[in-house]
Amino acid sequence: MDKIYTKFVGAHTSASGGVFNAVTNAKEIGAKAFALFTKNQRRWDAKELDTQTIDKFQSALEESGILAKHILPHDSYLINLGHPDEQKLIKSRMAFVDELERCEQLGLDRLNFHPGSHLKEISEDECLSKISESINIALDKTTGVKAVIENTAGQGSNLGYKFEHLAQIIDKIEDKSRVGICIDTCHMFVAGYDIRTREAYDKTWAEFEKIVGFKYLMGMHLNDSKPPLGSKKDRHHSLGEGEIGLDAFRFLMNDERMDDIPLILETIDDKIWKNEIELLYSFVD
Ligand SMILES: [Zn+2]
Ligand SMILES: [Zn+2]
Repeated sequence: MDKIYTKFVGAHTSASGGVFNAVTNAKEIGAKAFALFTKNQRRWDAKELDTQTIDKFQSALEESGILAKHILPHDSYLINLGHPDEQKLIKSRMAFVDELERCEQLGLDRLNFHPGSHLKEISEDECLSKISESINIALDKTTGVKAVIENTAGQGSNLGYKFEHLAQIIDKIEDKSRVGICIDTCHMFVAGYDIRTREAYDKTWAEFEKIVGFKYLMGMHLNDSKPPLGSKKDRHHSLGEGEIGLDAFRFLMNDERMDDIPLILETIDDKIWKNEIELLYSFVD
């Protein structure tokens, strides 16, 4: 009999050559979830998704048995929903709507993105308000896809490294049924949230529950960290090779609060993703 899985682990696979390739690449590494860019993440413009591409994506998905709720598309790195400059903010907002629409066309239900940066030109509060407003505008123009805010490392002027930032953004969202959170373990750790011991792990997640709430958790990025705790430097590492170590991931794989959401590796060596996925499943008691 097939084992019943409650954890859905995968990796951010390459969609080079077409979004459907991300599905094939996920299956090849034994993934039960995956992340992808639906367009080139370093460009503003993109070719519209044509019917043939959409059909190929959907039939690949069906064949793979991976469900839409276990797929966590990531938006372009260029988008800054809290941009201090009005014209640039508008450009970001348009691109964000386009990203949501692409997810919608592909039959996906959530889009992962980094909240935004104040670029040292406006206050944190102002920037967080702009981000909420950007999300409200985008949700209003689209249907079905949830906006999933990722916590950040706190590098440069990027906001979202404190649970309070995430809560503050959510607080101003009009339709709270369409907003969620993605927690990246590397970002969390370098932002100062320890998860290395049972005690630290429990304390950090209790804080998350109190400030944000698990009902918003709609995905995770599972990464070890090269830099130490609280360093605010965003550099991922392979599981067990960095400063976090394996225990945190063992706790996580047995934590039912992370059931039924995409758990995505963004670790640095894609050649060992298959092994990392196997390792994570071996942690399940
Ligand atoms: Zn990200
Ligand atoms: Zn991430």
